[in-house]
Amino acid sequence: MFRAIGFGLLVIAVTHAVRAEDAVVENVVFAIHGGIGLDKVEMTPEIDKRVRTELEQALRAGFAALNKPNATGLDAVEAAIRLMEDSPQFNAGRGAVFTHDGRNELDASIMEGKTLKAGSVAGVSTVKNPITAARAVMEKSKHVLLVSRGAEAFAAERGLEIVDPKYFRTEERWQQLQKQLEEEKKRSEVRGQRPEGISERYLPGFSFGTVGAIALDKAGNLSAGTSTGGMSNKRWGRVGDSPIIGAGTYADNEACAVSATGHGEYFIRYSVAHDIVALMKYKALPVNAAADEVIRKKLKAAGGEGGVICLDHRGRFYPSYNTEGMYRGCITRDGQVQVRIFEQ
Ligand code: ASP
Repeated sequence: MFRAIGFGLLVIAVTHAVRAEDAVVENVVFAIHGGIGLDKVEMTPEIDKRVRTELEQALRAGFAALNKPNATGLDAVEAAIRLMEDSPQFNAGRGAVFTHDGRNELDASIMEGKTLKAGSVAGVSTVKNPITAARAVMEKSKHVLLVSRGAEAFAAERGLEIVDPKYFRTEERWQQLQKQLEEEKKRSEVRGQRPEGISERYLPGFSFGTVGAIALDKAGNLSAGTSTGGMSNKRWGRVGDSPIIGAGTYADNEACAVSATGHGEYFIRYSVAHDIVALMKYKALPVNAAADEVIRKKLKAAGGEGGVICLDHRGRFYPSYNTEGMYRGCITRDGQVQVRIFEQ
């Protein structure tokens, strides 16, 4: 008997040590992520401070938008993501990573949980705010996903701000590409292989990553959005999970809103965002169990690095990630802000 209890306690202790999970935060109305970011050893106090400041600003911008008269969650998602797209710090909008050919090709998506309406753009190089273009696709076209030049023409027709492709360039991201190209060259010389375009390992880049936002508005509707430059050194018009509804973004009032970041190929193959929603709907799992099942179990076992932020229809916020940390934050109905990187 005692042995059995002892064994039980041991199992609980070991499980706990391995699975350090975040706590669910209640009464949340808005939350964001800024990607996976740096490993702990690479983090400096300066970057740590910058990350937290920028995340808090985006959270407050989303919260302010959410509290305007007649605002919807989509307004908050768009406002916060626009701010992060305009900041050169994030891998979204200005500051996006470079493709193998030295271009910035941006992807974004948005979804409304009440109607399951969604919009996305992929591979755009001239649209200043891809999240606004994604929203225009959802609200002002008959389609869900527009790509490349067609998406740019649509954005221009809708009167969205168009910029010279050079606008997105930052020196930090350019150097990141140069480093990757050098490494790739060395590797291909050693192994006699052709370059693969994207490293086998997910490299989140220097300080900030892909961005995402999720909201629960006063009418009780959920929304989600994600915006990214994709993965540095991507080739051949590669598109990741961020503009793929069901992979990088999903919102369903009957379950939760999800925005993802990580190695996009895995998130597409495992339909990550929708899988979390499906586990909640069909298996009645709570948001944290559903997210961990997909991110910490399935995806981790497959070798897919990354994470998600989730917000359910009762205002329960939960981030799940299988990496050391994830830049993330949430704000409660009464304006309490919480920003986290590595800590639970
Ligand atoms: N998920 C993005 C992609 O694969 C990258 C990221 O989140 O860092 O395009």
